[in-house]
Amino acid sequence: MIGSGVPSARAPNTHRHREGGIREPVRARERAGCLRDSLLFSWLHMENRGTCAGTAAGSGADGADADERAAFLAALRKIEAAYLNFDTSRPVVIGGKTVTAKRVQPVSGRIGWALAGEDSGLDLPLLISVDGGLTWHDAITADVRAAIEAEKERRRLGEEEAALYADPRKVMKPGPGLVLLPNVTNPGDVILVRSGEPGEVEWQGKTYALKPCKAGYFTYLPIPRSTKPGDYTIGDAQLAVLEKKFDTQHLTVSEEMESMRRNTERIAADQKKIDEARSHSAETFLFDSAFLKPIGGRLSTPYGYTRYINGKFASTHNAIDLAAPEGTPIAAANDGVVALADELYLTGLTIYIDHGMGLFSQYAHLSELRVSTGDTVKKGDVIGLVGSTGFSTGPHLHFTFCAHNTPVNPDLFFGTTPFRW
Ligand SMILES: [Zn+2]
Repeated sequence: MIGSGVPSARAPNTHRHREGGIREPVRARERAGCLRDSLLFSWLHMENRGTCAGTAAGSGADGADADERAAFLAALRKIEAAYLNFDTSRPVVIGGKTVTAKRVQPVSGRIGWALAGEDSGLDLPLLISVDGGLTWHDAITADVRAAIEAEKERRRLGEEEAALYADPRKVMKPGPGLVLLPNVTNPGDVILVRSGEPGEVEWQGKTYALKPCKAGYFTYLPIPRSTKPGDYTIGDAQLAVLEKKFDTQHLTVSEEMESMRRNTERIAADQKKIDEARSHSAETFLFDSAFLKPIGGRLSTPYGYTRYINGKFASTHNAIDLAAPEGTPIAAANDGVVALADELYLTGLTIYIDHGMGLFSQYAHLSELRVSTGDTVKKGDVIGLVGSTGFSTGPHLHFTFCAHNTPVNPDLFFGTTPFRW
């Protein structure tokens, strides 16, 4: 209704600098009424639209769905209330003059209206503020309209973001404070950090920029396997790192295979390719639903094992190995973009998928690639087939995630999303 333009269509200042002519109190009241109604209706319209991907999917007039939606909207209103910084105690000043206000009503953190008293001398007693009550307007100018649209967009993004969480009120806090998802973790895991404002996070000597997405600002923080258990302070938040034991695995391989690992030149050349592929990540989350396990195979090596090959310490196994017959189709764990699909020396036919914000999934030892570097993939798309290429003793999928180039526990992702950690 704001676009239908009764108040905004008139020339600016008409009511204040009217020259001659006859006062039109009825018309003024109509205009004031229309301005107020258009504002309120536009906000109510937003409240009741309920187009939440997370809760309205497949809904009909079903009672359970309606309850869920009502609970969701109630949660959103609480979040909005937490963001409310509209100061109703400020004097209402218009045209340099302080007027008495019969009522000041915020409708969001920034937008609100005031009803001026009869003694204000204003034709249009209904005023609007788009900056939390600092300044007041008696017409919907282009700037006011733009501010209303920006606020509507902020709330729309808030709705979208809220749909990502199990309990949005616990996560979508206003201000620069950090929310850690989760705030209890293990060495080798990864956490997601959310703030209501842009900024940076210092963690283990590195600086991570919070990137905007929906109504918040985010980064992943890898918790390297070497992290000592204990309590850590990250910004204004506390993180508990628990103790975790990693088992040891002994592998016996042929002398020929073992010698592969000594070709440091080829390994270094591959690493350059991988580093290059992982140096660019989408500046937003490319997924909005739970990750799936790429194959259903038997877990043959869990994440984080310390691995000895032919009796000598080799590496830590920063991935999971899923044993499956040669040729088993491999599904993309979630939506993303193929950052690299190539034959590498140790991991054989290998795929890296960028899921945005510095998160990559990796699929190694494939017998066949079904995607190319640069392809966009959807969760569940077949991207390749299980094989035993590269440094591998039998058909299996070597699968992991990297966050900001640090390998992290893949088990955290299956059947959920970082928003629900
Ligand atoms: Zn492996």
